[in-house]
Amino acid sequence: MTENFSDFYYNCDSDIVCHKMLLALTQGKDLVSAARTVMESLDGAFSVTGITGDGEFFAFKDPHGIKPLCAGHDPNSATFAFSSETVSLDMNSFERDFELEPGELVTVSQDGFKRTQVIKNPREAFCAFEYAYFARPDSRFNGKYVYEIREDFGRNLVKENPDIVKECDVIVSVPETGDDPAMGVHEESGLRWERASRRHRYVTERAFILLNMERYSTIDKKINILGSKVAGKNVIITEDSIVRGDTTKVIIEKMRKAGAKKVYVFVTFPRIIGPCFYGIDMSTYGQLVGSKHNPEEIAKIIGADGVCYQSLEGLIRATGQKEEALCLACVTGKYPTPCAQKMADAMKKRFLDGYEEKNRIYETEEAQL
Ligand code: SF4
Repeated sequence: MTENFSDFYYNCDSDIVCHKMLLALTQGKDLVSAARTVMESLDGAFSVTGITGDGEFFAFKDPHGIKPLCAGHDPNSATFAFSSETVSLDMNSFERDFELEPGELVTVSQDGFKRTQVIKNPREAFCAFEYAYFARPDSRFNGKYVYEIREDFGRNLVKENPDIVKECDVIVSVPETGDDPAMGVHEESGLRWERASRRHRYVTERAFILLNMERYSTIDKKINILGSKVAGKNVIITEDSIVRGDTTKVIIEKMRKAGAKKVYVFVTFPRIIGPCFYGIDMSTYGQLVGSKHNPEEIAKIIGADGVCYQSLEGLIRATGQKEEALCLACVTGKYPTPCAQKMADAMKKRFLDGYEEKNRIYETEEAQL
């Protein structure tokens, strides 16, 4: 490897961060300056942990704090840890100390954590989809379990859709991220929650990152419906989100086959209308059923009698955050970082012009933005 690491080979986005840090550190910059170089030159979501050649343990977060990263320690030894979620601290009997601030670098020594605010960004943008889908329910953000927030999502959906609730007999959740909101729907409505949709323990692929045919067959194998629990009934299904709509469609088909009369879908995350460039495979407008269709049309496409999305206000209220502290780009089209906004605008234009996107935009020539 040369001094400038010109033969550095990029396998993934983490390699870009490593390369930038290596360059900065070998040019004599200290860790704070190296982290600043990364923060100033990259547009996107990154939570970085590492150990320097001198054995310095560190972590830092992008200036918008898009993804979670927290710090903790083992009270029985001088052992420190960083984790994307508090759950892994809990599971290793570590105490949670703090959530890293956007643009913050934390280093560890025998004396504990040293916190340095490298870049102060006026706009925090924590991923709102963490609350509905990504995070484990037993993790805590701002001291509140994700589980409790998802219950609130369910309660709110009941309050916003009283007529549908009146019509229904039973709630069925799509495991596992639909389970916690189902508890909220049950508590608020008094309807019975039947665990009538069961997930195959050993089929673990995520449907939305598979190819078409694979996706259908995986969903089909993954979810089984306890027919007698829904036969002759009007059902509310609780689901975390609708991306392509394939999973929900298969579940509704199975419910109908089992004899369900009416099927409504309560979706805890608002309608996804745009791609995400911050680490989730929702990369083109064409893939997102919500970018092309309104809730009534989506209901028809997936075979439901109605689709009720969480309102933006309901989502924000349940998280306990301020709107301006959240990234809501995939549901509002307003991206917190300039490069993402530029890519989204370019993609939207091509999408409206009828261009069929096959790859992520950053894998095409528009990546040279
Ligand atoms: S665009 Fe959506 S999924 Fe992506 S970081 Fe923002 S809120 Fe999260």
